[in-house]
Amino acid sequence: MADHYNLFGLKHFAGIVADMMGMELPESFAPSIGWLSGILRERLGGEADRVVLYHADAVGMHIWQKYTNLFAPVYKHSSMSVPFVSTVESVTPVAHATMYTGMDPEGHGILTYDRPKLECTTLFDLWIEQGKKVAIVAQLDSTFLHIFAGRDLDYFEGKNAVEVQEIALRLIESDEYDVVSIHTFDYDNAAHAFGPESKQALNAVSLEAEGYQRIAEALEKFKGKHKILLTYSPDHGQHPVLGGTGQHGSKQIEDMNIVHFFEVM
Ligand SMILES: [Zn+2]
Repeated sequence: MADHYNLFGLKHFAGIVADMMGMELPESFAPSIGWLSGILRERLGGEADRVVLYHADAVGMHIWQKYTNLFAPVYKHSSMSVPFVSTVESVTPVAHATMYTGMDPEGHGILTYDRPKLECTTLFDLWIEQGKKVAIVAQLDSTFLHIFAGRDLDYFEGKNAVEVQEIALRLIESDEYDVVSIHTFDYDNAAHAFGPESKQALNAVSLEAEGYQRIAEALEKFKGKHKILLTYSPDHGQHPVLGGTGQHGSKQIEDMNIVHFFEVM
């Protein structure tokens, strides 16, 4: 059987989040997937005023297909899961620029593993224009700290996924931030070093999924006070290479297909 790419591109990510928040987007942004944000908004009973976006780097759909149990902590706090297809190239700066600008790589200009500060309008810029308090919490040297640098938002760094998760939990509990965008890449690191299905890499999938769960539990305390959107949104996958390590950036199905999860509360 031939490989199949998933239908929806990552450029719809910004549109989905914006629609959930009742925000209008400039024309440069790809639209939401209407039925998806429609169903979520109906379940939420209105517009989201508190948004937490968890980006577990490089967790591909083939990992979800073969190790579905590892995603139980994510399923426990998700209302919907939808397959997405990554960008060409399937690398972090290209994919995350597309997710937060709503544009194909040709539009935002990051076509390969470059990490310039994006000068075009991102979802971060629109949130700031609307007076929202925004935090990026990411591992040291995260792509987020490069391509989304220089904005009027708060940047926090942690040395590993657990430290990032701890910071994110503190920010959520402070109830000060409208938007918290989280980027961890323990899985990406372990998959590069030991292979995408290595014990080390699969442990990192669990560690990131369990962090998502702890974040969801922290958010639950604010149910009723806020209308909350939480997502688990990887950027691309990884494929195994000879010698037992892992790589991505290609059009291989393991690099391209991913699954996103959405929760509303
Ligand atoms: Zn990545």
